Amino acid sequence: MSSLKEKVQQVFDEPGCGKNQGKSEKERKKGCTKQLTPGAAAGGCAFDGAKIALQPITDVAHLVHGPIACEGNSWDNRGAKSSGSMLYRTGFTTDIRETDIVYGGEKRLFRSIKEVIDKYNPAAVFVYQTCVTALIGDDIEAVCKAASAKFNKPVIPVNSPGFAGSKNLGNKLAGEALLDYVIGTEEPEYTTPYDINIIGEYNLSGELWQVKPLLDRLGIRILACISGDAKYHEVARSHRAKAAMMVCSKAMVNIGRKMEERYGIPFFEGSFYGISDTSDAIRQIARLLVSRDAPIDLIDRTEHLISQEETRAWIRLEQYKPRLAGKRVLLITGGVKSWSVVSALQEVGMEVVGTSVKKSTAEDKERIKEIMGDDAHMIDELTPREMYKMLKEAQADIMLSGGRSQFVALKAKMPWLDINQERHHAYAGYEGMVDLVHEIDKALHNPIWTHVRKPAPWEQAGDGAEPIVIPRTGGAALSLQLH
Ligand code: SF4
Repeated sequence: MSSLKEKVQQVFDEPGCGKNQGKSEKERKKGCTKQLTPGAAAGGCAFDGAKIALQPITDVAHLVHGPIACEGNSWDNRGAKSSGSMLYRTGFTTDIRETDIVYGGEKRLFRSIKEVIDKYNPAAVFVYQTCVTALIGDDIEAVCKAASAKFNKPVIPVNSPGFAGSKNLGNKLAGEALLDYVIGTEEPEYTTPYDINIIGEYNLSGELWQVKPLLDRLGIRILACISGDAKYHEVARSHRAKAAMMVCSKAMVNIGRKMEERYGIPFFEGSFYGISDTSDAIRQIARLLVSRDAPIDLIDRTEHLISQEETRAWIRLEQYKPRLAGKRVLLITGGVKSWSVVSALQEVGMEVVGTSVKKSTAEDKERIKEIMGDDAHMIDELTPREMYKMLKEAQADIMLSGGRSQFVALKAKMPWLDINQERHHAYAGYEGMVDLVHEIDKALHNPIWTHVRKPAPWEQAGDGAEPIVIPRTGGAALSLQLH
């Protein structure tokens, strides 16, 4: 296996990443990691990114080799749901100490793997490298290999220590670990012409379950979802799929591309956010399967399902249209596939006054322009102060963003809805679109906003206003006249 340095270089050279391919050779060598701004929250580290990408594999013991804080930092911060095993939500760490740093932590890691297997009998153990154990030179690949042979169980090294780079790089290194050690190591009991993989979908708040019933109705089988609600053996057998869909983010583009190269599985990039994007995605899955010899009637059946589901969703959305028409939305999604959410909101008549494009590719920006027109307000970097100003000057009626910006909206006394990975509602597919609109409507028309926007009593009290009297036990009442 290649060293970490080589792996990082390979990942940076990803031919499937448009942004990377747009760079000169020299720029590409420098990698994608940006210089951090002192004082600004840097987002997750590469280890965090790897853990986020793989933790949704539910029947695996995710063992973090490092100080306990690394596991504390990364444990279950996304809310990926499971339909079976709950083992993935148990935090395992070797919790290394000073003596391990002096004498090396490999023995402790080996013992920890044994303990986890003895107590939980997981389908596999994933061992995550962290900064400290990488710096002291612990060879997790060698320990995993020895443990795997000794305990007759897959023990997978995930070599993505925090210092290697950004969270996004960690997502890709996690993909590399699956490609090197998991995918293609087992054979499925049977295959069908309708087998697909869904890549880069994490089943946050159960979003996969909003889409799976649609595919079930068409007889399309998800051989593996990488990695939402996945089981280890499904991922190991995923190389027999006939087609694949890469969901939204390019976090795992290397898996899609390499599986196409190695196993001839064609893939496309699509989104399950919004009515038309969901229909397009299902349509593309059907077309790809037919191009790989699935019976042609799948196309007609798919169109029938799409027309049924779209009609049903529009009937349900109709009631919200008059309440939401013309309402202005400020969309801060981090930029990953914001176009998908933009078109979804426009579908119900809302106006998107600005959208972040911080993490968007050139292709994404083009799509936003297509949807919003040439004067699309694309925001590269919006400081909290600018965000506050936009909301305060009522340039927007609601902000849709991640949890970190919620306090800016609350300070500006503006409705806010969480649409990032920590959200508690699922917004995928037709069902999810109806839920998203319902949540926006609830946030916008919540009566709390009229109350909080009223001036406080002390702001109202002027000359001649009644004084505020505060009774005191055992003494005269305190009378305050506010100006
Ligand atoms: S940066 Fe290093 S020490 Fe910090 S959480 Fe990530 S792996 Fe652990």
